[in-house]
This record gives sequence, structure tokens and C-alpha cells, in this order.
Amino acid sequence: MPEQIKEQTKELKVDDIKAAAEEKGCPVQKALYFVNEFLAGPMCGRCFPCMMGSYEARIRLQNLVEGRGSDADVLALGRIAADMVEASFCKKGKDTGRFILDWIATGVYKEHAEGHCPDMQCQALIEYRIIPGKCISCGACKNACKFLAIHGEQGKSYKSGYLPFEIRQLRCTRCGECIKVCPTGAVVLVAAKASEPVGV
Ligand code: SF4
Ligand code: SF4
Ligand code: SF4
Repeated sequence: MPEQIKEQTKELKVDDIKAAAEEKGCPVQKALYFVNEFLAGPMCGRCFPCMMGSYEARIRLQNLVEGRGSDADVLALGRIAADMVEASFCKKGKDTGRFILDWIATGVYKEHAEGHCPDMQCQALIEYRIIPGKCISCGACKNACKFLAIHGEQGKSYKSGYLPFEIRQLRCTRCGECIKVCPTGAVVLVAAKASEPVGV
């Protein structure tokens, strides 16, 4: 394949990765997806700012997505991305830095450092919970959960004092099946750090 066509193919790949990243709701997830795919594909490793910047950006982004993030990660990402724009040898590295800066500019990175994903997409930062006052003890959520993460007893007219339905957070994989089947809207998605469920 002639050199020029090869280069065009790589350029298209960066655009394709960016388009796929934009389909994710959370701007931190967008950047992590982009950097993972960039490292797996078009990043050629010929210059230090782009190669090391991408690897370090991935670590910082993983920290934010997985609930270990801090303000230091957000600051470092801004510095890494600015260096990539400034010093990368080619457009691919410079574009990567620009994309990361644009995603940081949404303002949600700092919220992730505080343990909150406003798009409710980072699984380490969210929880499914059952609002006791809305639960009619029908058992649909327990039947839908493949991970045995819900305990509770179905209500029976002849019995009182049965076990209320609850989600065991350590077993929950955040698959979301329980929220789909609950007939009363008693299952809600909340920020893991929230003391009260949202939308109550
Ligand atoms: S900026 Fe371009 S040349 Fe440098 S590592 Fe990235 S893709 Fe390769
Ligand atoms: S989100 Fe999935 S794993 Fe968690 S309790 Fe609901 S059904 Fe079970
Ligand atoms: S599906 Fe909803 S109403 Fe039924 S037991 Fe689960 S939380 Fe309660």
C-alpha cells in the first residue's frame, strides 16, 4: 500500500475512534475509550509526549472512572493534554491532546474526583437501591437479578413481618436488570456517595 494511502487510513481511524467515543455519555468515559483505542491502534510510539502522555492519561482516567481519582489526576490530565498539543510530532497526538482538553472543559472531571458521575455511567460511582416506601414486595427484581444480589421475601396476605427487599452492594454488578422490571419505580440509580436516593 502506498505511504500516502496508509497515512490516510490511520487518520480515518482516529476520526472513527473519536466518533465512537462521542457516543458515550460521560466525558471521562469518552476520553478513556479514546485513549485506549488510540494506544491500541494509531499511536505509533515515535515521539515521547504522545506515547508517554497517552499511557499516563490512561492511568489518570482509570483512576477517575474507578473511584480512586483526585484533583491531582485532573490537574495532571490537563498538563499531559496541553503537552501533547504543544510537543507531539504529528496531528494524531495533537488531536488527542485537544480532545482530552475539550472533555476536561465540560467540568465533570472535578466531580469524578469528588466521587460523582453526573451521567451516572461510571459503575464505581453509582449504586442501585430500593426505596422501601415504594416497594410492594412483588419479588420481580429478585427474580431478574442473575447475581443473587437482591434479598427479601415476597409479601403474603397471611404473613406479616417478612424481610424487606434490599440490594447487597458487594454482589451487585450494576447490570441494571432490576430497575427495568420493577413495577413501582422502587429501584433507583443513585450516586454511591449519596446518603439518600435521587428522585424520591
Ligand atoms: S504524535 Fe504522531 S508520531 Fe508521535 S507517537 Fe503520536 S502518532 Fe506517533
Ligand atoms: S443492578 Fe443487576 S446485579 Fe445489581 S441488583 Fe440489579 S439486577 Fe442485580
Ligand atoms: S420489583 Fe420493585 S416493588 Fe417488586 S420487590 Fe423489587 S423493588 Fe420491590
